[in-house]
Amino acid sequence: MDLKSATEKMEKLDIMEIGSDLLGGMFKKTGRAYKRLCPFHEERHASFYIYPDTQTYVCYGCGRQGKILGLIKMVFNGDGIDILEYLRNRGCDLGRDEGILESLILEEENSGYLPRSI
Ligand SMILES: [Zn+2]
Repeated sequence: MDLKSATEKMEKLDIMEIGSDLLGGMFKKTGRAYKRLCPFHEERHASFYIYPDTQTYVCYGCGRQGKILGLIKMVFNGDGIDILEYLRNRGCDLGRDEGILESLILEEENSGYLPRSI
């Protein structure tokens, strides 16, 4: 599979749907975002936000931020095989090529827009 078709497949996924699926549905709508307790650090007040309009997430507590693949990568501790399997189960079949996944992640990281720099 080439990077272009892989990117097109990825574009059908929604960060809010993936976020709810991976982290549970404890999100509360606030303005243009949805927030919940951060799954990546311990806290009492919700500072983990998903912005569906920009398809980004940010935690104002621990500073983690990124886009959809960044979030999936965090949840699966960067395990490419697990990520590919998860994506396949969500209807986004990228085959078993971890190289294409790496390229997608790189592309995402270099794509610029994030909700806020910390
Ligand atoms: Zn956090």
